[in-house]
Amino acid sequence: MAAALLQPELQREVPPVLPPARHLRPTLLPLHFAVVGCGLGGLAVAHCLGRAGHTVTVFESASRIGDVGAGIQVSPNLSRLLIRWGLGEDLRKASVKPQSITFRRYKTGHRLGWTRWGETMDREYGAPYYHVHRADLLDMLFKLASPYMTLFLNSRVVSLDPDLGQVTLESGQKFHADVILGADGVKSMIREVVVGGPDKPIRTGDAAYRAIIPASEMYKDPDLKSLIDHPEMTGWIGPGRHIMAYPIRGGQEYNIVMLHPDRGTRGESYDLPGSVDQMRADFAGWEPRVEKLLGLVSHTLIWPLLDRDPLDSWVHPSGHVALLGDACHPMLPYRAQGAAMAIEDAAVLGVLFSHITSRRQIQPLLQAYQALRYPRTTDTQLAARLNQKIFHLPDGPEQEARDISMRKGMEDMLREARGEPSREDSSGNANVWADRAKNRVQFCYDAEVEAERWWRGSGDRWAAGVGETLAFKL
Ligand SMILES: Cc1cc2nc3c(=O)[nH]c(=O)nc-3n(C[C@H](O)[C@H](O)[C@H](O)COP(=O)(O)OP(=O)(O)OC[C@H]3O[C@@H](n4cnc5c(N)ncnc54)[C@H](O)[C@@H]3O)c2cc1C
Repeated sequence: MAAALLQPELQREVPPVLPPARHLRPTLLPLHFAVVGCGLGGLAVAHCLGRAGHTVTVFESASRIGDVGAGIQVSPNLSRLLIRWGLGEDLRKASVKPQSITFRRYKTGHRLGWTRWGETMDREYGAPYYHVHRADLLDMLFKLASPYMTLFLNSRVVSLDPDLGQVTLESGQKFHADVILGADGVKSMIREVVVGGPDKPIRTGDAAYRAIIPASEMYKDPDLKSLIDHPEMTGWIGPGRHIMAYPIRGGQEYNIVMLHPDRGTRGESYDLPGSVDQMRADFAGWEPRVEKLLGLVSHTLIWPLLDRDPLDSWVHPSGHVALLGDACHPMLPYRAQGAAMAIEDAAVLGVLFSHITSRRQIQPLLQAYQALRYPRTTDTQLAARLNQKIFHLPDGPEQEARDISMRKGMEDMLREARGEPSREDSSGNANVWADRAKNRVQFCYDAEVEAERWWRGSGDRWAAGVGETLAFKL
């Protein structure tokens, strides 16, 4: 497939943040898109399609647009797009640029792995790595999408007719569109329409507590102060559980995600209140700084982690309905890529549909979208699952081998930081952020450039003949 063929070339390039401007040219055939779900993916696709000249109507079941109190990591493959779309300054102001990632042993806090980030990210992967508050990122995308979308809040889509291109809301109102996009998250109902029957997410056995601590509280304790003053992502890893923590909002707040075995949390919403006492008990005996941090948490959210196996098709046979984001490729948060993948999907749809000149191209373009995105999102889903295994190893020989691998990567990075030559091949390091080859694949990817490259390479010739045959191959 084209996406797979393009990978070796991608691995050699550090793409520039700034764009080739071609995809900004508006479409010659404006269509009407209905987007179900106004999360990060829904907003991004409203922006990308609207900017390409299409009419976009977004239906959101919630009564307001907002996100839970938690942080989110914006890796270079995502920041590259956001900066190109004009959010560079907003992002920089709202975020923290972590200088490194450190893995620590859960009981002692001893450093197991370390990888330099900061400017290294810009230099090696072409765009910055940021830590942001989810609500701030959602606000930024809302600002981008607003000029292009008509938004219906309190508007749960309860059914759709894929052949007619019609959605029905809980209120009974019906709307027609040329294309319906399911950006309705991991519990997607549009996915069931695409699959053609019931299709529920799988509980992974893990759940996440989430909490935010004001930096002012941490400054009162000399042991915690450095976690704010030296911004980095810290991962404490232990048997069956781990913690990821980093400062956000210019260092005003400290975000903590605590992954642990799910005890059958009732409900699957993202904002269920969790028990602070249970949270502390779950991490009792961890390094004293962790215990101190958890002592500062006044309330926590609990988030059962759901997953799904890769789908066979993201596009309904009618050719009028397709999925994006968590609706088609939800993933464990252990590679911090779920939102990045949803927004990359949106970017690809925006570029492909900027080229449409005939209604007969709708279905083949949706198939091109899937073919361009499927290998990458599936690999990322699997990488996240692999990290679950690596982070949660029980103490024993496999954990010791993991720690040795992480240490080797760290020692090599420290050598480089001292200006000495590297002596290690980083490929396959247990700390995936130390693995430069994997980072290049993940972080150098430019969704818009990939879509445009496909179009220029074969898409335009193929589209010219689409009237004769709908058979589509990448
Ligand atoms: C603990 C945790 C940490 C994470 N950290 C990161 C990270 O650091 N970096 C990263 O890139 N990703 C991260 N992710 C993943 C990321 O949050 C998701 O991948 C991303 O939010 C998916 O966006 P989406 O738009 O596809 O779905 P959602 O954000 O779930 O949005 C779906 C929207 O659809 C609406 N909706 C649902 N059904 C209907 C309906 N029938 N009608 C109308 N509206 C409907 C919902 O109300 C919601 O607003 C993390 C996830 C978790 C759980």
